[in-house]
Amino acid sequence: MFRPGKMASQVLRSLFKKPATSSYPFVKKPMPKDFRGKLRFYQERCIGCKMCMRDCPSAAITIKPIGDKKFIAEIDLAKCLYCAQCVDTCPKKALEATPDFELAQLEHGKLLIVLGENAGKDSKTEG
Ligand code: SF4
Ligand code: SF4
Repeated sequence: MFRPGKMASQVLRSLFKKPATSSYPFVKKPMPKDFRGKLRFYQERCIGCKMCMRDCPSAAITIKPIGDKKFIAEIDLAKCLYCAQCVDTCPKKALEATPDFELAQLEHGKLLIVLGENAGKDSKTEG
């Protein structure tokens, strides 16, 4: 049954309450512990075993040799499911999931990133 008095009091109460939503992207809250965002690659730990590639369910990661026992990791952010299976699989803890989730790009090509020093000149390189 419609009760205008009850509704009016609820409206008044709501006027003085803090909003339940947050003002993202103006206010950013810290991500929860163990959030699985963009990958970080510790090049100095990688032994090139490619177990991360084998276990990746979407073929989003490619490990490539670039010299004497040195490897780079190519990640296709468009294919990555952010499942962190590669992180769990890596026997050397060379991969880590970061809280970074703001990965949108206007150009598809920018979603292919190369992690590690001495990566290809035409690719974005991050540590
Ligand atoms: S599983 Fe780890 S050590 Fe092996 S290739 Fe991948 S990142 Fe490197
Ligand atoms: S987070 Fe998952 S989908 Fe992304 S590269 Fe690692 S295993 Fe593949």
